[in-house]
Amino acid sequence: MSVKENLLKIKESLPKGVTLVAVSKTKPIPDLQEAYNAGQRIFGENKIQEMAQKWEALPKDIEWHMIGHVQRNKVKYMAEFISLIHGVDSLKLLTEINKQAVKHNRIISCLLQIHIAQEDTKFGLDEKELIELLNDPAFKALENIKIKGVMGMASFTDNKNQVKEEFKTLKNTFTQAKKILPNINVLSMGMSGDYPLAIAEGSTMVRIGSSIFGNRNYA
Ligand SMILES: *Cc1c(COP(=O)(O)O)cnc(C)c1O
Repeated sequence: MSVKENLLKIKESLPKGVTLVAVSKTKPIPDLQEAYNAGQRIFGENKIQEMAQKWEALPKDIEWHMIGHVQRNKVKYMAEFISLIHGVDSLKLLTEINKQAVKHNRIISCLLQIHIAQEDTKFGLDEKELIELLNDPAFKALENIKIKGVMGMASFTDNKNQVKEEFKTLKNTFTQAKKILPNINVLSMGMSGDYPLAIAEGSTMVRIGSSIFGNRNYA
């Protein structure tokens, strides 16, 4: 199936209120253009340089989402155009994003990444760290960032119950965060292998790559 066919099929299957981020990392610009021509306007990338090149080459009404781990010294390369940064997991990083947002006279939207997987390689805060961050006066003083919600990645496993429990944990953390920040409304969870489960547990934003663009070749 073509990128267009994959995309339209997935879009059709998503309930109303669930936003699709088309994860285009490693994929060439013509593939993104095909998805764009089929109506997709939100793309997710995990390398800032690659994203910046695609941003320059493609139509300017695309919303670019950074879904990968962000190094502080690279924030400046996306501050001008980024729509949403999914993987924010420290006050230090938020402070840098705020600083770059001020330089560009923008408010930059962010999601806080929560650690839900069993694997300890995945980045993110636990619920206690999240609550501490949200109550930190230094966080409250950051005026050029806007927290829109939380993001997480489930374990890479065939155990559906485990994945489901991890998504439940993330949903609970989202609910706790909402008590402090009542306006947050983004719960970013679910990828090609697990997005139906994520949606069943309350996801409002899915990040889907290989089911749209085909498997990635990192070689
Ligand atoms: C690569 C990636 C995805 C998409 O993965 P697929 O399995 O190809 O759908 C989603 N979220 C994050 C954070 C990713 O790095």
